[in-house]
Amino acid sequence: MARIKKNDTVMVLAGKDKGKTGKVLSVLPARRRAIVEGINMVKKHQRRTREEEKGGVVEKEASINLSNLAVFCKGCNRPTKVGFDVLKDGTKTRFCRKCKEAF
Ligand SMILES: [Zn+2]
Repeated sequence: MARIKKNDTVMVLAGKDKGKTGKVLSVLPARRRAIVEGINMVKKHQRRTREEEKGGVVEKEASINLSNLAVFCKGCNRPTKVGFDVLKDGTKTRFCRKCKEAF
C-alpha cells in the first residue's frame, strides 16, 4: 500500500522546495515519484503553433522522488509518519502515528 496517495497534502523534505507543502496531483509508483502542485516547477518551452502564436515558456510541475516527500498532518500541523491499519472488513486505512487522525 502506498505511503503517499493522490490528493494527499505533502511536505517537501529535500531539494529547492524544501519545507513547502502541496497537494499530490499524481503518483508514479513505477518510478517512485510524484507530481505535487506548485512543487519542483520547471520552465518548459512550448512549440509555437499557427493557432497559438504566443508559444514561449510555461512553468510546469516536474516529478519529485517519493523519498523526498512526507505526508503533512493537518492535525499536528507538521509532516508525520503514516501508520497503516486493516479494518475487520478488510478496508485498509492510513493514519497519523502522532494524533491518530485518519488520512
Ligand atoms: Zn497528526
